[in-house]
Amino acid sequence: MNFELTDEQQMIYEYGKNVSQKYDRKYWMEHAERKEFTLDLWRQVGQDGFLGMMVDESYGGAGQGMFEMALLMEGMANEGIPLLMLVVGPTMSLSHISAHGTEEQKQFYLPDACKGDKIFCFAITEPNAGTNTMKISTVAKPKGDKFVLNGTKTFISGADVADYALVVARTTPHDQVERKTDGFTLFVVDMKAKGVDKHLIPVSVSMPDTQWTLFFDDVELGPENVIGEVGKGFELLFDSLNPERIIVATMCTGLGRYALDKAVAYASERKVFNDPIGAYQGVQHPLAMAKTEIELASLMARKAAWCFDNKDPDEGAAANMAKYAAAEAAIHAVDAAVQAHGGNGFTKEYGIFDIFPVVRLMRTAPLNREIILSYIAQYVMGLPRSY
Ligand SMILES: Cc1cc2nc3c(=O)[nH]c(=O)nc-3n(C[C@H](O)[C@H](O)[C@H](O)COP(=O)(O)OP(=O)(O)OC[C@H]3O[C@@H](n4cnc5c(N)ncnc54)[C@H](O)[C@@H]3O)c2cc1C
Repeated sequence: MNFELTDEQQMIYEYGKNVSQKYDRKYWMEHAERKEFTLDLWRQVGQDGFLGMMVDESYGGAGQGMFEMALLMEGMANEGIPLLMLVVGPTMSLSHISAHGTEEQKQFYLPDACKGDKIFCFAITEPNAGTNTMKISTVAKPKGDKFVLNGTKTFISGADVADYALVVARTTPHDQVERKTDGFTLFVVDMKAKGVDKHLIPVSVSMPDTQWTLFFDDVELGPENVIGEVGKGFELLFDSLNPERIIVATMCTGLGRYALDKAVAYASERKVFNDPIGAYQGVQHPLAMAKTEIELASLMARKAAWCFDNKDPDEGAAANMAKYAAAEAAIHAVDAAVQAHGGNGFTKEYGIFDIFPVVRLMRTAPLNREIILSYIAQYVMGLPRSY
């Protein structure tokens, strides 16, 4: 693994700095407060060629990998604009269709999606299965060469702005499979299809994106809606779930840096005794510890992205470690930044506390800290299985 970025990678990393000249943190927070999707920013990122980062050039994409996608997200989050829909759309859905879709599916979905004209969300979580994906009960029952989809998904980000959802369903129910990983199939579902309904879940996190419970009631699907092979979806699922962990890690490291930069600027100016408060070790050390944790996590995220792109067997371990390390580092960084700001850390004007719910969310979602630690304990360290 090379630590030096190519000129192209450097340009991708710096894109956040450029785009934030127009779409800055203030723009972001105004949309977050109105709970309104940042559609202009989305279209701009599409126009600039980055929504299709992981899509082949022949379908309108940039033909890059997870490494570049991670750089894009981190660069934007460094500026305080963590584009959540980049996670569920371009990283989890478009790359998946690009890698596993048929020629017709790629032609139909990808060129428009790369421009920002077809938006995707990703639906895996269910109310009764939660973290235990094996237990999902959304079923696409085969009917001739078609399927009938029934079930409920919950906490689906951006379901209101999405034109399509990539839905993880069972084509064979949980209790009828030999191996619990059998019987999963991924479907593209048109959000306007008959039988698709949604209810808003009010969530106390300042983000422009909203979360929804999705209901599927006898939704008719055809073979053209299946991504990959029927019943073999589980094998392919990690081509979306590991990238999700990696990109969430870079969202966290970027936001952590953004908060620390603000804290450094504030602590270098603010005087209440003789020196700026940043001269006191009690203020410096939590910031310096957090900075170290952020940079370590960022390195691990780059390693994980490299492993994914190179089909390295450490991919799962690195993706889980990166997500764990980055969420924890970002929580510590924002907490230290709040503390360094004193009372101002809690004001709208300084905008530090607003970052906290977002990074705290990433300890729980997309995969909670406990399951990640159990994965590392079991698969990396060889400890006995815990659940
Ligand atoms: C803002 C937001 C956006 C989201 N966006 C999406 C989306 O776009 N698409 C989507 O599919 N999902 C999405 N989710 C869902 C998210 O991925 C889940 O909430 C998360 O995976 C946890 O599942 P759960 O809420 O059912 O928690 P549960 O599975 O009920 O777990 C609750 C808690 O129990 C603990 N726990 C559970 N199992 C174990 C275990 N085996 N060992 C130890 N501890 C355990 C953990 O601490 C966990 O936090 C989103 C959630 C939120 C809040």
